[in-house]
Formats: sequence, C-alpha cells, structure tokens
Amino acid sequence: MRDRHLCFLIGETGRNPNAAAQLAPQPSVRGGSHSQPAPLLFFLVPSPSESSKASRTQRAAAMASPDAEQPAPTEPARWRDLDMLLSRPGNLVEASFDPSPTLRDLLGSLVEVLVVGAGGLGCELLKDLALSGFKKLHVIDMDTIDVSNLNRQFLFRVQDVGKSKAEVAAKRVMERVSGVNIVPHFCRIEDKELEFYSQFHIIVLGLDSIEARSYINSVACGFLEYDSNDNPLPETVKPMVDGGTEGFKGHARVIIPGTTPCFECNIWLFPPQVKFPLCTLAETPRTAAHCIEYAHLIKWDEVHSGKPFDADDAEHMQWIYSEALKRAELFGISGVTYSLTQGVVKNIIPAIASTNAIISAACALEAFKLISGCSKSVSNYLTYNGLEGTHIKVTDFVRDKDCLVCGPGTLIELDTSSTLAEFIKMLEEHPKLRISKASVTHEGNNLYMQSPEVLEQMTRPNLSVPMFELLKGVPCATVHATGMAENNGKKVSSLRKLRVAFKGVEASNMDTTESS
Ligand SMILES: [Zn+2]
Repeated sequence: MRDRHLCFLIGETGRNPNAAAQLAPQPSVRGGSHSQPAPLLFFLVPSPSESSKASRTQRAAAMASPDAEQPAPTEPARWRDLDMLLSRPGNLVEASFDPSPTLRDLLGSLVEVLVVGAGGLGCELLKDLALSGFKKLHVIDMDTIDVSNLNRQFLFRVQDVGKSKAEVAAKRVMERVSGVNIVPHFCRIEDKELEFYSQFHIIVLGLDSIEARSYINSVACGFLEYDSNDNPLPETVKPMVDGGTEGFKGHARVIIPGTTPCFECNIWLFPPQVKFPLCTLAETPRTAAHCIEYAHLIKWDEVHSGKPFDADDAEHMQWIYSEALKRAELFGISGVTYSLTQGVVKNIIPAIASTNAIISAACALEAFKLISGCSKSVSNYLTYNGLEGTHIKVTDFVRDKDCLVCGPGTLIELDTSSTLAEFIKMLEEHPKLRISKASVTHEGNNLYMQSPEVLEQMTRPNLSVPMFELLKGVPCATVHATGMAENNGKKVSSLRKLRVAFKGVEASNMDTTESS
C-alpha cells in the first residue's frame, strides 16, 4: 500500500470505501512549462513573471480593495517545492515515507486540520497551512477583530473591525488560495462537543492562553487509548503542534499523545504570571508597575466602592493612569506612562509580527512533516529567541509517566451498584481530580450533561442508574468527564479521561458480554 505514513496517521483506508479511489495515482502536476520556483512568498510578493504593466495595475487594484479578484496563480508553479519534498526519497524521511507525486493530492483530500485561534499566530497558520497543501481546514476563535489587531493580523482590514476573527480569516485565505476550504467556528473551544474534535487528524494551536492550551491538550489526549501493555493505540493518537510567541521569543512544539510529552506533562515550563504582593503595592512601591497596580487593585475599589473596573473603558484607564502618576510622584518613581498603564492592567504582551511569522512557519512545517512523513519531526520543543541575535534551539523533553492527561487515565473503582450520580460525586471529591458539576460521556454517548437544559433533561434519568448498567456490564471502560476544576488557584474548564473498573467483576465477563 502506498503512503503508509499518511494512512497510519489518518487511518482512512480501512474505513472509507472511497479511499482506494483517492489513493489511485493522479497525473503529475509537475513538468509543465513553468520552471519558475514558487516559494511561499508567492502569496505576498508578486512573482517576476507577472511584472507586466497589466498585472501590476490589477495588483494595485487588489491591494486597494482586498475583495477584488486576484490574478490566478499557476497551480503547478505554486506547488513545485512541496511536490519536490513529497516525491523524492531522502535520508531524513520517516521509515514509512513512500514518496509519490500523488501525496499532495492525498494531503489535500484526506487530511482534516483544526487551527485553534485566528489571531496573530492563527492568521499566519491558516495561510501557511493552506500554502502547504492542506485543503480541509477548520478554524475556531471566539474573538472579534479589534483595531489594535490590524498591525499584525494581516488577514483583517479596517472594515472588518467588530466581525468574527475566524469567519473573516477563513474567507480571506479562501479568496487567495484556490481549492482550499476553511470552515470557521465563532465560539469558545469549550462550546464544541468532543465529537467535533474527533474528526481532525491534526490540531494546530495558535493561542495565547495557558488555560485554552491545557483544554485542547486534554481533549486531544482524551482520545488516546492504550493496549493491554500500555502502548498507545496508533489509530487513537491525535497529534498537535503548538505555537506560542511573546515579543521576540517563541516556541513550536510537537505533541504526539502517548509518545512525546503533552502540554500538561511539562506545564511547569510556563512560569506563573507575575503578581505583586499587595503589601508591596500598598507600602513600598519600587517600580512604575507597582504604582499602576496600586491604582488598579487598591485605589479603584477604595474610591469606586463596588463599581467594577473595565479595562476597555478609556475613562477608567485614564483614571488609573492619573492615580498611578500621583503615586509615582509621591515615591519619586519615574516611568509611568499611559501605554505602560494599559500594558500592566491588561497584562499586554507585546506582539511582533515577524516572530509570529517565524513560529507559524515552523508549526506548519511540523504539521506537514507529521502528516506526510517526508522528514523527521522536531523532537520535541523548539524555542526561538530573536532578542539577542537569532537563536533557535530544540530540546527533547520527556513524558511524565504519571501524567493525568496523556496517561492511560485515572482509575476509578466502583461497586456494580454505584449510580451515575454517585460517580459524579466521587469526581468532585477525588483528591487528584476535583471536578465539580461534571458531564460524563462514554464512547461519544452522553451519559449525563449539565447543559444545555434540553440535554440535561434528557440525560437526568441516568443519574439514578448504576454505572455498571450504563456501561453495559463491561468490567472496565474509559469515560470522559468535563467540568470545572481548580488550576493554580483559578477555576478552569477541565476534561479528564477516567478508567472505570468494577469491583469483583472478572475480565472474562467482557468476552461473554461482547460475544452475546
Ligand atoms: Zn501528559
């Protein structure tokens, strides 16, 4: 069979009757009259062959109005470099890589990619992935476009302010890269059911929040199953590529659940957010940031008893700024400015467009390599630092064997008489889990859902049914629980994979149940 690597990761050929047809050799797209190299820059920079006066005018018009029609790029030229990578053998390819001129078509027709985040990194990722031959993309982002995004989130225009980032980003990339289909999802990542995430072969993250990364990580790791020897089952592995940037620094990491460390295995890599002790703010401020936080955390409440502070209200921000300035003068501290006030209060991390571009390129390349096997993946954490010269380093982190998220799952032992309601209570009291208000699913079926109301009503009768019955009398089963759990002192959405085993039920019972 061709393309074992691709098939291994996407597990399509066994189930999809059309796969054989899709796997049939396609005519080569190379070898036309186009000998011009078409690097990814083609997307942004006019190619020399197009420098006629007519196309220049067309491009000028296109730049003035982003919706204007683009001159159609010559397809084989655009994909020439990708086809080079996919159709030639090499010393650095994965063992299962089988070069073929049809690989790019397969990549486009079979592989479903989810991009999480349509901000600074997300815009770059969508463009890079679309130009790397991926044609079935989804993007999810709950944010709308703000005018301050426009300097780097290059898919957005002034007239897009207020619209959904995911929707506009999807539309813009589809306009520019023919044949690519991007489905936008304008919602929170927690609003999607697990089933939604299961359709993707790879998930690429362009996020700026630890909580969101942690959630997606637990979703992807939640699909992971182990065999009886605790080896991950290949068809349940959902790889992720995680990008992140902060000013001139960034990282791109490859997460293969069960093989490389997951996000949770080394969450200690992310330092806790800088918080100042209140006593320092109140009594011994030493920096401009201390003065700003004093005005923000202490003075505001003193003066505006009960009125909530709104960081997006310019008047509120101006008030904090002038109070911080007074405080700074009192203690002889310099450096309080309006923009620093905004930065400290909103915890703004400076965003640099070129860092996003570099990290996104690294992530898209890793996704491409993971799916095609045309080269070895980064193992497993790449860091980029553009602050002092340019420095790229790859660190091989190791898995935490006791990880709650990517391990085989926390074992919960139940009596055969324990009901679903009792099980949910156990999750709340479990010292490692502490999931409150849990919703419980088993193999995609909702056993109990806290919301929406209609699902809650439908699943409520299950609460009094023994789990043993709900899980159809198997001695052990994997279930998923979502709910709120405390993480670093904050309540966050949490998803946990649990192995439920019933006391006194022998494994041999399973054979009877399954064969009956
Ligand atoms: Zn882990």
